[in-house]
Amino acid sequence: MKLKKDWTREHLEKHYIGKMTATTIPVNISISGKQKILDMSQLEIILREAEVIAQEECYCRKKMGNCNDPMDGCLSLDKEALDAIEKDGAKRITVEEALSAMKRTYDAGFVHMAYVYDGKDKPEIICSCCRCCCHSLSAALRFGYSDHVFYSEKIASQDNSLCDNCGACVDRCQFEARKMDKEELLFEPEKCAGCGLCLLDCPTEAITIVERERIGS
Ligand code: SF4
Ligand code: SF4
Ligand code: SF4
Repeated sequence: MKLKKDWTREHLEKHYIGKMTATTIPVNISISGKQKILDMSQLEIILREAEVIAQEECYCRKKMGNCNDPMDGCLSLDKEALDAIEKDGAKRITVEEALSAMKRTYDAGFVHMAYVYDGKDKPEIICSCCRCCCHSLSAALRFGYSDHVFYSEKIASQDNSLCDNCGACVDRCQFEARKMDKEELLFEPEKCAGCGLCLLDCPTEAITIVERERIGS
């Protein structure tokens, strides 16, 4: 992957490593008639439990500029939200506005992540992240800080009998769990973060998101 700009190890260690962890939030899709319906229930539970939600422009994409729109999927909750509104001019939004921003970022191919600060027991930042700009995905996937990002309890399950090897899911996967080998799709479940991004463009419904322990059991 060629980047215009990247983080440095010093910056990541000073601001993020050991100060917070991130967990991917799974998105599922159900098919109703010819409509694909996005199931963002886990995300919705977190957002509905918050008393205040604030929305800001994505700091990482502004700083790195390796990809861009949409920029509005960076959310903070409760105390973090009040701080962001007061100090950074963030905008207070409703749960419905937050879900609609997160639907846009999912469609654009960004991973939903819940950030928990060290010593806290619930997420205060909900973000829409990419491996090229996000400090945390960059740290885990390019700088070797693998225990900085946890993978969700879900995982993709692949039905190769339905797959037509079109390759549409390959670019959607930020974790490089999917690649084309000659004309054939290769899925490496050990790299799968369970984010559900690959579902949207699959024309044959060959992918489903299941509980992680069901794989191999
Ligand atoms: S953590 Fe994700 S959404 Fe938040 S600022 Fe960074 S890339 Fe943007
Ligand atoms: S294969 Fe990639 S895009 Fe699909 S759920 Fe796993 S990590 Fe996400
Ligand atoms: S998008 Fe679906 S059909 Fe196409 S390669 Fe991926 S799993 Fe197979």
